[in-house]
Amino acid sequence: MGIDLAHVDVAPEPGATGLWVAAIMVLVALAMAAIHRAAVKCPQCRAKMTVSDRCVRPATTLAEGLSVKVHHCPKCGAFSETEYRTPPSQTMGGCC
Ligand SMILES: [Zn+2]
Repeated sequence: MGIDLAHVDVAPEPGATGLWVAAIMVLVALAMAAIHRAAVKCPQCRAKMTVSDRCVRPATTLAEGLSVKVHHCPKCGAFSETEYRTPPSQTMGGCC
């Protein structure tokens, strides 16, 4: 009867592979942030567009809401609207 101390499984370390995955994820996040910033420029005159949100249907705890993001160019007057959904509200009201 004896405990075999020599037989201990060591989990393989992620090592360099894990670092590469983390580095690629950071690069993808930075690229997406850059795309988002570029989208705020006017497609016609390249001026910086103003962004405003307009709520079409407010979100409830049960259903998602609908909002419109409006990009407006103060220089040439061009504008574009993009609908997007907002997640259901997490705040539970004093129901029942
Ligand atoms: Zn413009």
